[in-house]
Amino acid sequence: MELQPGVHQLIHGKEPFAGFPPPNVFLLSGTKASILLDTGWDDENDHEARMDYIRNIKGPPLAGLILMHQHLDHAGGALRLHRATGVPMSCHPMDRERIEKVRFKGEAEVQNLLYGGERIDLGGLTLEVFHAPGHTMGSLAILLPERRALFTTDTVLGVTSTVIRPEDGDLAKYAATLEMLRDLEADVIYPGHGPLVEDASRRIDVLIRHRQYREEQLIAAVGKGISRVPDLRRALYGEQSPKIEELTILQIRTGLRKLVEEGMVILAEGEYTLV
Ligand SMILES: [Zn+2]
Repeated sequence: MELQPGVHQLIHGKEPFAGFPPPNVFLLSGTKASILLDTGWDDENDHEARMDYIRNIKGPPLAGLILMHQHLDHAGGALRLHRATGVPMSCHPMDRERIEKVRFKGEAEVQNLLYGGERIDLGGLTLEVFHAPGHTMGSLAILLPERRALFTTDTVLGVTSTVIRPEDGDLAKYAATLEMLRDLEADVIYPGHGPLVEDASRRIDVLIRHRQYREEQLIAAVGKGISRVPDLRRALYGEQSPKIEELTILQIRTGLRKLVEEGMVILAEGEYTLV
């Protein structure tokens, strides 16, 4: 579906979990070249649907695949697309190892690295690349300055707030990234899942305040003597479905790790206490 001239949204494949929208893939097409942002799941049917879409648009040929972050629902489809089109893949160096070892199972390498600061000219459409660590350490964001449009992959979603996992994300970096993205003053966000977000700066402000609120809640709960993760989850979030409970526990562990790193909380034998 073409959302504005040269900006296509491709939605194929399953929901990561019930009620959560499937990953968005964006095809950006200028007068000289086209480029794909993210690649969806590693799935034969999804891949065929994507290839059909790419073949059928009346735009210039595909010149590259940008893997905005390493998660399976975004980088999973890259290798099939690379093999089918022959175009190079790009990612941030901090997500490279996981993409090559886990997503590609060591069978392929990423050809280009994007550090942030690059400008890619598609002809009448410029991509400005930003390093946006937090959701993963190698997450990227891309701004189209002519359109004041910001592509955020999972850093900002079209639904709910994103999950930062302790194993590959960082909440302090995420908070700094949100402020950096807000300061770009985009009008519209094209997120990794869900519909586009109008009034981008306000939405990012809401996310910043939401994170601060959750952190204050967490500090207050630990201060009341609630010291274990499952108890903290229950105190802060109450009744949840098993899948959401699992994600919330990851979120709380990431929040506690931030507080431990900042010297506000101590972890000893599985129990958290305020310093
Ligand atoms: Zn993700």
